[in-house]
Amino acid sequence: MITLRNNFHGTQARVLPVPVGDWRYRISNATARRLRRTLCGIATCTCGGTFGERPEQVKVVAQTNNAYIVEIERED
Ligand SMILES: [Zn+2]
Repeated sequence: MITLRNNFHGTQARVLPVPVGDWRYRISNATARRLRRTLCGIATCTCGGTFGERPEQVKVVAQTNNAYIVEIERED
């Protein structure tokens, strides 16, 4: 389980991404929408990264029709 944070809105959201290789994970579009809604939720706001996290913590390395392939900076 990974916790993403947004230090502008003071929010956080947890996600259990599916590992797809060394340090890479799959996050579905539906999960991405949930994360953005939880972390920021303001359509016009540009505070965060792709998933609403701030500072940016998740790097998108590829994208399919229904998911993102990402690398996530771990806090530990
Ligand atoms: Zn925001």
